[in-house]
This record gives sequence, C-alpha cells and structure tokens, in this order.
Amino acid sequence: MKKALAVLGLVLLGLFAVLLVRTVTARSYQIAAEPVSDLSIDAGAAAERLAGAVRLPTISHDAGGPVDGAAFLSLHEFLARSFPRVHAQLTREVVANYSLLYTWQGTDPKAPPVLLLSHQDVVPVEPGTEKSWTHPPFSGAIADGYVWGRGAMDDKAGVLGLLEAVEHLLGEGFQPRATVLLAFGHDEEVSGVSGARNLAALLRRRGVRPAFILDEGGVIAEGMIEGIAAPVALISTAEKGYVSVDLVARSEGGHSSMPPRHTAIGRLAAALARLEEDQMPARIDGATRRSFAYLAPEMPFGPRLFLRNLWLFGPLARSTFAGDPAANARIRTTTAATIVHAGIKENVLPHEARAVVNFRILPGDTVADVLAHVRAAAGPEVEVAARQATATEASPESEAGSPTFRLLQQTIVQVAPGTVVAPNLLGGGTDTKHYQGLTPNVYRFLPMRIHKEDLARFHGTDERIGIDSYAGAIRFYVQLLRNAAGGGQAQSSSPPSSSPPRRPRPSPPPSASPS
Ligand SMILES: [Zn+2]
Repeated sequence: MKKALAVLGLVLLGLFAVLLVRTVTARSYQIAAEPVSDLSIDAGAAAERLAGAVRLPTISHDAGGPVDGAAFLSLHEFLARSFPRVHAQLTREVVANYSLLYTWQGTDPKAPPVLLLSHQDVVPVEPGTEKSWTHPPFSGAIADGYVWGRGAMDDKAGVLGLLEAVEHLLGEGFQPRATVLLAFGHDEEVSGVSGARNLAALLRRRGVRPAFILDEGGVIAEGMIEGIAAPVALISTAEKGYVSVDLVARSEGGHSSMPPRHTAIGRLAAALARLEEDQMPARIDGATRRSFAYLAPEMPFGPRLFLRNLWLFGPLARSTFAGDPAANARIRTTTAATIVHAGIKENVLPHEARAVVNFRILPGDTVADVLAHVRAAAGPEVEVAARQATATEASPESEAGSPTFRLLQQTIVQVAPGTVVAPNLLGGGTDTKHYQGLTPNVYRFLPMRIHKEDLARFHGTDERIGIDSYAGAIRFYVQLLRNAAGGGQAQSSSPPSSSPPRRPRPSPPPSASPS
C-alpha cells in the first residue's frame, strides 16, 4: 500500500514537473521592430472623407436581388473627388457594374503583386431600430471622437483607409516596386457572388499570382483577452464555412379537435431540439490552437499553464469554452435555428412546418458532414436539404509565422508598439473565399481597435469607428505598403508627408471597362 502511494506520488510529481516546464518554457512569438517616426496622418480630414462615404447608402439586400446602383455610382464619384492622386495615377477598372479594381503599377514587373481587398456594400439597418441610433445610420455624423454610421467599421474603413494610404504614399513620391492591386467588391454582405467572384475571375484570367491577399477580418482587441492587458491584434489565418439547412415536416392536416399524436410542428420542434442538444463535436485545433500558442506566453501563470497543457486539459477546456458563445464558436461547427414557419389558424392542423438552421463550419468539418449530422438528428420523417447556393466550405488555413504573417506582424508593431499579435479563426465570412487558389497566403485583418461592447455594433446599432483608431488603420496600411511593396526608390529620399506632392510620371486617366 505504502509502495503504491509512493509510486502515485512520484507520478503526480512527474506530471506536475512536465506541466511546469511546459508553462515556464513557453517561448514568445512576439517580435521587436523599430517604431515608425515619419508617418503622420491628418486624422480629421480622413474622418471627414470616411463620413462622406458612410452617407452614401450602398446597401446589399438579398443575393441576386436589385442593387441600388445610384448609391454605388455616387460612391465611385465621391472616391474620385476625394482621392485625386489615386485617380490620376492608378488604373481603375469597373467590374460587374459596381466593383472596383485599382492597379498601382510597380517598377519591377517580376515582383509578385500585393492584393488588398475590401468591400463597398453595407448591411441594411434592421427596420424598427433606426430610432435607437445615437446618430441616424446614414448621417455620417462626426461626434465625440467617432465617425458614426452603417459601414463606418464594416467595411468603408477598409475601402477609404486603403485609398488614404495610397494617396498619402503618392504624396510622398513613393513608387511601389511590386504592383499593388486594390479590389473593392460590391456585394460581400450577400456572399460576393457578383463582385468578388468576378474580380477574382478577372485576376485569374490575367494570371495574377499575388504574393499575398489581405482582407477585412481580425481586429485589434482591447481588454477582450483575459490576462493580456496589451491590445491584441488578431490576424485571421482561416475562416469558417457556412451552410443553411432547410427542414420540413409534413402531416395530414385537418381539424385540431382530432389531432395525431405528433403534428408537423411537434415533429419539427423535436428535430430542432435534438439538433441543439447534440451539437457537432468540439476540437481545439488548426487556427484556434495556434492562436492559443501565440497568446499563452503573454499570459500570467494560471491561464498560461492551462493553455500550454491542452494535451492534458483538453476535455476541461472544451467544456469550459462550450459555455461561452464566442469561445464555443472557435472550437466547433455552430448550430443556430434562425427561421421557423408553420400554421395559419389556431384550430387548423398545419400541412407542413418549415425551419432554417444556420451552421458555421469549423475547418476540418464539411458541408456534407453537417448534412449527415442534420439527417441523423432529424430522423426519416423530416426532409432535410442544404441551401447550396450560399453554402461555403471552411477556408484552408494560411500559415502563422510565414513571411507574410511576419510582415503583417512587423508592420503592426511598427505603427502600434506594444501590441501583441496572434493568428485566429474568423467566425464570419469574407470575400477571400472567391480568391482561393491565387495564393496560399490569405490573411484577414483590419487594424481598428475594438472593445467587447463594440462587437454588437458590427451589423448592429450605433456602428462607429474611433477617429484615432481609423488613423491607426491608415498608418498600418501606409507602412504595410512600404514594407511589402517598397523598394521602387530609396526610402530615405522620400520627403516628409508635409512636402508638396511630386508627380513621378505622367498618368493615364481613370478607365472603366465593365466585365
Ligand atoms: Zn465586411
């Protein structure tokens, strides 16, 4: 007995030693970089331009539905007025009527281009919620240090921010060595089936092989990651897939005074309850696991011990994360019943009951896996069909620690010293899904600073971006272009940004070629 206890004690001691060693030897993935000093942005003027763009209601309603073309054309005119150097010196093409492709020709035709994405469209304001906005959603109000309105965060800050950066660099006389492509879709919020799909097809036809693609996605999270006081820049290296599934239960109908044991509604409800009960399995792997690997070394001892030893604490971690919707979404394919329709009158048995369940697919699961899971849960009496038109598989994972990732990381630290950088899994979708195959280096990051309470502003009420935060994003884009596409001329010869603009070469007028 004594011997057994002694052995057990030794085993526990050994285990504890392993946990401890793994915890204290966690090596940081953070890098040091010289902060940039020659980069000042006129934040007030940039905010005015962003507000002007927010005032143009470029709303996406339903996929394939009517597009308010006038709003998009107004936005195009507004951009041309607001960014004169860009429109004098870059080539602009209109694709699929309203999407825009800007080409800033690099001096080295052999250098692979840099492809930066954003989208012009915004989601509608939910009817009935207009009154709860502090400033009307399309007022583009500037107040209390913010630009307010639909699109201020998602994603006009991306479109305007990128154009601000190029305009700024043109003003410095900067010439990119690598060609810079800016592609702004017009229907990202309804899957990008017209805009991004055609933009990507055009680039594919031209044989464009970008060095990397950067789109919206991760943000700079402030005070949102437990145990890390510093801002955390989350670069999304993968995004979840998407599928909505229709469920239909049918029954005879008739008078409600002589009902069968289960009506169509009852059978549909039971199927939905089973789907909520038996969720798709949880996994801590891929981009989520790598996110923890980057974050753990920056955390205090307790959470670091936990995250560094998921080999042991995995089951505990999965059940802990499952209790928090945001954390749960990182570790499994999520299940959300979003629409139910059945019945027309209180004393009539319905012939059918319909529901839609929306799934966000964890990389590693597939649309087919989800369908099989739903069929098993729903049983033979409920019809199940995926909405294939909007279904998307989860993206491949881009490498954390790749030269591109490190370039983004370096740029972040240069413009915002002290920021912790980590990869992550994006829960929503982006236009990047249409660009797959052009390059394995696909990253999703829009460097605006976000607090937990700001999350509800995405697609919600009181969308707004801090003017400081927006200026930070512009500085990031400027420095990124210097780092990624620089070398067309010696950086040291660039005059400071206050100098009058130089026109390095004659430029073609903006061109338009619908395709
Ligand atoms: Zn967006």
